[in-house]
Amino acid sequence: MKRNTSWRVRKNLSLLAESPNMKNIDEETTGGINNAFSLMGNVAIVLVRPKYPENIGAAARIAANMGINRLILVGKEFPDQERMKKTATHHNTHLLDTMEFYADIKNAIAEFSWIVGTSAREGRQRRLISSPKKMIHDLLPKLSANKTALVFGPEDCGLTNDELKVCNAIVTIPTANFSSLNLAQAVAIISYELYTGILERNCDKATEKNSLKLAQSYELSGMYEQIEFALRRMNFLREHEYGYWMLNIRNFLGRIGLRAREVKFIRGFCRQLINFTNQ
Ligand code: SAH
Repeated sequence: MKRNTSWRVRKNLSLLAESPNMKNIDEETTGGINNAFSLMGNVAIVLVRPKYPENIGAAARIAANMGINRLILVGKEFPDQERMKKTATHHNTHLLDTMEFYADIKNAIAEFSWIVGTSAREGRQRRLISSPKKMIHDLLPKLSANKTALVFGPEDCGLTNDELKVCNAIVTIPTANFSSLNLAQAVAIISYELYTGILERNCDKATEKNSLKLAQSYELSGMYEQIEFALRRMNFLREHEYGYWMLNIRNFLGRIGLRAREVKFIRGFCRQLINFTNQ
């Protein structure tokens, strides 16, 4: 870590000392600084179909401010570079230069093990909803061992129900009025909460050594397909019930956070069921 960065984090820690959540700030505390940086290194911001390149630039800027070094874009065409760079600064154009680009969310998040969706609305289909603080409380013990994607939707309509389905948790930022925030401002609030959450946790001297490596998103999506296939082979439900039940199963298993070997076990179990129905 660069010397000036280390200095900045020390300064941040002393600012945070005013927080009621913080315990003693001492020399040992600053030993966790490297950890804070490596933890933020496990986080990526995923912007799904953003309409305005200026919002991408502004999101890149705040993400870099908070120590996030990976920006992923999901969309049909690569956005206008000039318009994106207008709202970034020369310190963080590296995030725009290295921005990854995917046509769909499934491929964009395939390698991630913990997916957090964000939504301005709490519709009927939108379960697993929590506040930023609660989401971060659940995420922090997992973060050191698991790549985490923070997913944000388009300015006009937000993430679709299908896109929210792949998330382990969904966060709504509480507002007094008009639930919908500007995209880059939503990125700012979530990134800030995460960064300060990590610093506070270091100050509590919590260790991340018990963090379990969870299955990656592509392993889970294969498992859900296999579960549905097995249920269909058993004629377990009526046709119109599969959508509802699969969403429940996703919510339940997604919330738990399965490990790769547990996914293999469930897939093996489904395979046996399918073989059995073939006999
Ligand atoms: N009109 C859309 C809001 C889109 S705002 C809707 O009603 O859903 C663009 C994106 O910013 C959202 O998809 C979400 O990722 C984020 N966002 C905006 N307001 C938010 C809030 N209150 N809580 C969480 N995320 C929010």
